[in-house]
Amino acid sequence: LVSRDFHPRNTIVKVGTVEIGEGRPPVVAAGPCAVESEEQIMKTARAVKKAGAMLLRGGAFKPRTGPHTFQGMREEGLLLLEKAGKAVGLPIVTEVMSPDTVGLVAEHADLLQVGARNMQNFDLLRELGKIRKPVLLKRGMSATVEEFLAAAEYILAEGNHNVILCERGIRTFETATRNTLDLAIVPLIKELSHLPIMVDPSHATGKRSLVPPMSKAALVGGAHGVLVEVHPEPEKALSDGPQSLTFAGFDRLMGEIDRLTVFLGWDE
Ligand code: PEP
Ligand code: MN
Repeated sequence: LVSRDFHPRNTIVKVGTVEIGEGRPPVVAAGPCAVESEEQIMKTARAVKKAGAMLLRGGAFKPRTGPHTFQGMREEGLLLLEKAGKAVGLPIVTEVMSPDTVGLVAEHADLLQVGARNMQNFDLLRELGKIRKPVLLKRGMSATVEEFLAAAEYILAEGNHNVILCERGIRTFETATRNTLDLAIVPLIKELSHLPIMVDPSHATGKRSLVPPMSKAALVGGAHGVLVEVHPEPEKALSDGPQSLTFAGFDRLMGEIDRLTVFLGWDE
C-alpha cells in the first residue's frame, strides 16, 4: 500500500487546511519539544505564527530516555497545545505514545506523531490505522528504509492512508551530532513511495547552530516540510534546549526559507 508501484499518484495529506506533499509549498512545523506551561506555549505559538510557521508542534506525552526527567504535561499539555493552536489559527501536531491514548489525542490534535522510539510499536500503529486523523510517522533511530516503510504499511493496512513520513536522524558511529541525518532517504523515499516525507533537523543534529542549514538542505533535497523545535528561552527548556531555536533564530530561518521558496519556484 505504501509502494509507488501500486499507487503512482502522490498522496497529499491535509492537516487542518494545510496540504502536505509533492507539488505543495514546503510546510514548516515549529514549537517547543514539550509544552511546559500555558505562558510558554502561548508565547511560542504567537512567535512561530508571526514568523510564518504553518503548524504548531509541542510534546505533551513525552518519550524520555530516563524515567526521572520531565515526562510531559500529558493531557493537560495536550489541552494547552490545542488552546494555543486555536488562539493563533495553527493546526497542531503532538506525539501519541500508547494505543490507549490514541482516542484522546485524536480528539484534540490535527496530526498525531509517532516518535522514533515507537516506530515499531505495532499495536500503536494498528490503532492509528483505525482513525481518520493524519499521522506523522518518525523513523526509528536504527530502522532501515524497508523497516520504516513497513511500519507505515501497518497504518495504511488498517485503512488510514493519511501518513506523513519523517526522517529524524539515525544512530551511527558518529557522536559529534546527536544523530546522523540521513538526507539521502528523502529522494529515495520519493522513488519508493507516494507518501509525503518531512525532516526533523532538530533531533537529527541536537545542535541549534546546525538546524537552519539542515532545514534548508532538507527542503532543497525535496522534503515536503520540516519539523523544528523553538523555545522562548532554550537555556531554561525542560527538554532539548541545546537544539531549540530562539524566536529570533526561527524568524531568521523563515526568512531564508522564504527566499529559497521564491528562488526555487515552490510558491507557484
Ligand atoms: C519529538 O519530536 O518530540 C521527539 C521525541 O522526537 P523523536 O521521536 O524523533 O526522538
Ligand atoms: Mn525534542
